[in-house]
Amino acid sequence: MTMQEYIDAAESALLHTYNRYQIVLEKGEGVHLYDMNGKEYLDFVAGIAVFALGYGNKRYNDALKDQIDKIIHTSNYYYNVPAIEAAKRIKEVSGMDRVFFTNSGAEAVEGAIKAARKYACNKEGHTDHEIIAMEHSFHGRTFGALSVTGNSHYREAFEPMIGNIRFASLNDFESVLKNVNDKTCAIIMETVQGEGGLTPATEDFLKQVRRLCDEKDILLILDEIQCGMGRTGYMYAWQRFGVKPDIMTTAKALGCGVPVGAFLMTEKVGANSLVAGDHGTTYGGNPLACRAVWTVLDIFKDEKILDNVNEVASYLSDKLDELKDRYDFIEEKRGVGLMQGLKFNRPVAPVINKCLEKGLIVINAGADIMRFVPPLVITRADVDKMADILNRSIEESF
Ligand SMILES: *Cc1c(COP(=O)(O)O)cnc(C)c1O
Repeated sequence: MTMQEYIDAAESALLHTYNRYQIVLEKGEGVHLYDMNGKEYLDFVAGIAVFALGYGNKRYNDALKDQIDKIIHTSNYYYNVPAIEAAKRIKEVSGMDRVFFTNSGAEAVEGAIKAARKYACNKEGHTDHEIIAMEHSFHGRTFGALSVTGNSHYREAFEPMIGNIRFASLNDFESVLKNVNDKTCAIIMETVQGEGGLTPATEDFLKQVRRLCDEKDILLILDEIQCGMGRTGYMYAWQRFGVKPDIMTTAKALGCGVPVGAFLMTEKVGANSLVAGDHGTTYGGNPLACRAVWTVLDIFKDEKILDNVNEVASYLSDKLDELKDRYDFIEEKRGVGLMQGLKFNRPVAPVINKCLEKGLIVINAGADIMRFVPPLVITRADVDKMADILNRSIEESF
């Protein structure tokens, strides 16, 4: 079958929940992807901040193959070595105390919400607590996660959401104060907003919210699903300012492509929230997924992935600044580390399509923002190549 025939087959079989780009990707090598006609693309998306290590990392691939031959799945009613090794390592890099492995980011957010509600219920002997979330946030597509997602477009057709959610504005502490009351049990936010437009929470804001949470025993939940796992140059983005959450979610690059997420908590929350019977998952934390996590965290350490992020991020930032200065319809450069964006005063779809034609994969975050979330192993030369293709694509688009 030709690529077009596969695309037609996809459109008649898959539910149309994505407007897909017209390519069928077949394999990857390093920071490049190849479609089924063998055309090469430089990848600045990494499966949306997932494939941090680049494609075809031998140590990662070998570990997974080895695990497949040992055992792929057991139930959480039994212990398995990969889950124990993965838990040990993720505790070490996050400084959190307890971990629950999930199958996705949204599920990690669900678990975080349940843990926060249970904590408040235990403490006060009743339910009906409230959660404060942020406008323009994105936390996932399941009902709990969707309920704290601050983009009404995603929620509207599916109302009612879970109740007792209030929205404040990121980096506007007054707006948080306005929404706090005796029923507030948690404040949830992304440390750096991803889908909502690459906006980092400021140090002041995070510290003010942390202080408020400490005063009132409200739990701070930081969603690190996109901004975590080294993307900002720190293992977790909150480590940049030392504002530690009570509960944290992680996923995307955690398994580098094997579906796995986690929510983690401090001992204080762990000892006073979910207990046996309160929460579970059939697949979550299975040996294959956790072997991926275990291996990814070891590779991060041994191959000094964070050092590369810190080395290349400022270079990417400079290149994007140059583009911003060159074109007056580019309004702003945003983001931090290898999680950056360019805000245009118009839709960016034409640019993305031109880039694709020229062998560069980039993606948007909202209609008018271009998002750059490449594999964390990219080099300055890759950034140069990206910037050159992007520049020519912009020129040809407008
Ligand atoms: C992607 C994402 C999610 C949802 O993760 P899924 O694995 O798609 O369920 C949640 N929060 C943030 C910040 C994300 O970027």
